[in-house]
Amino acid sequence: MNAEPTKVTVAHGDGIGPEIMEAALRVLEAAGADLQYETVEIGEKVFDQGHTSGISPESWDVIRRNPVFLKAPITTPQGGGFKSLNVTIRKSLNLYANVRPSKSFAPYVASSHPGMNLVIVRENEEDLYAGIEHQQTPEVTQVLKLVTRPGSERIIRYAFEYARAYGRQKVTCMTKDNIMKITDGLFHRVFDEVAQDYPDIEAENQIIDIGAARLAAQPEAFDVIVTLNLYGDILSDIASQVAGSVGLAGSANIGETVSMFEAVHGSAPDIAGRGVANPSGLLWAATQLLVHIGKGDVAETIKNAWLCTLESGIHTGDIYREGLSQHRVGTDAFTDAVIDRLGQTPRHLRPVQYRAGAVNVPARKAPRPQKELVGIDVFLDWSEEGRDPNSLGAGLERSTPDGWKLKMITNRGVKVYPDGLPETFSTDHWRCRFLASDGGSVSFNDVLSLLAAASEAGYEVIKTEHLYNFDGEPGYSLGQGE
Ligand code: NAD
Repeated sequence: MNAEPTKVTVAHGDGIGPEIMEAALRVLEAAGADLQYETVEIGEKVFDQGHTSGISPESWDVIRRNPVFLKAPITTPQGGGFKSLNVTIRKSLNLYANVRPSKSFAPYVASSHPGMNLVIVRENEEDLYAGIEHQQTPEVTQVLKLVTRPGSERIIRYAFEYARAYGRQKVTCMTKDNIMKITDGLFHRVFDEVAQDYPDIEAENQIIDIGAARLAAQPEAFDVIVTLNLYGDILSDIASQVAGSVGLAGSANIGETVSMFEAVHGSAPDIAGRGVANPSGLLWAATQLLVHIGKGDVAETIKNAWLCTLESGIHTGDIYREGLSQHRVGTDAFTDAVIDRLGQTPRHLRPVQYRAGAVNVPARKAPRPQKELVGIDVFLDWSEEGRDPNSLGAGLERSTPDGWKLKMITNRGVKVYPDGLPETFSTDHWRCRFLASDGGSVSFNDVLSLLAAASEAGYEVIKTEHLYNFDGEPGYSLGQGE
């Protein structure tokens, strides 16, 4: 038995946040969760006070010193200058795993997939959410998609550990590695490697596009899905909608020292202050928090009472259906109904059992392979001579110093020189690939000479990417048509 109550940071958030947080805290209290709360202010009011991150330094201190954080949704101000607070919290606190269960509660909540019961484990810090974006030419913008071996290994191992702890049978990896062979390809490869350590759990791979289509049409076929950040974001909203309502889903953001628990939905400003919001998403998140801190028994009591409430047909407006529901209630009455049923077991819906506690996987560094610089991609902003790739190619060939050869030029990834097609559309953004003329390695000084020569010949270099081989294997993709 824990002598000291666990300390929990609580943020009441914006919009419906305060209403559903009050409901969740009332249920936790009535269920005897024995928690000690420290409240922080985040979101709209803090943005208005001039903190562009939406959080004050004092609040950071509180969040960092408590092991768990129950967070109501906040409103993200529209327009430039503000970064998403959710993304900032996840990344600053190293909350590497986003765990989003989606389950159908048919026939009590309308869903066309009564057998659906899956968990999406989403990588939470990398991918396009690294937020590194640039405009490089008048016509072209870019975002960097970062996928790392340690990040991929950690989230994939987390998915298998989670499956084992919660008695799940299968982990499905979803990527787009037929197109992004290096980034998504790394995730897929690491998945195949890690799966070897879990022979008791079935492992399968699906391309994300057909995988998402199957998730929408046949969600019963999935158990645990592990995927990259952006895909996971989209898939989990699809999954919770297919299950019945986004308003029902909770989400855990797991880190090594701090973990954050929240509803999947936003601050719903359209219904704020009316007392009609469904508190279930945040309540579900609160049960994930309880399981995480080893209070699975209290989580079971709350979740079973919640299932009983659904079975009684006591429903908030978002899930109310004529014929299915008995009473249309607001936030307070729904919360009272859950509290009244604490200690009861559902008769038709399957009661929950939370035997496992927290799942956590340490970060691991991979061994460093041998790395060899073999060339460089030089990106130019170039709009002259009718944007004729052959003119650009001929000009660059003339200015290329000894020791280098121009291998190809691409525009938006498609090879346009040599031997491009006249139909290919060209923007002002050109990627020019130079390799060592003898097929061997080059030095950093060779790169500087090449760039100086290009600049002296009048070309505007806007960025470069080094081309490395790792243990003899190219660490860069071919141009389309190369
Ligand atoms: P939303 O999830 O707030 O609302 C979408 C729709 O679902 C609305 O019609 C809303 O009334 C309804 N809804 C949502 N939660 C409900 C609940 N518990 N009960 C009943 N109905 C519910 O999404 P949005 O309108 O796109 O976003 C509103 C704000 O929330 C934006 O500022 C957005 O940036 C923010 N947001 C925050 C988080 C978060 O803090 N984790 C997540 C998503 C969106």
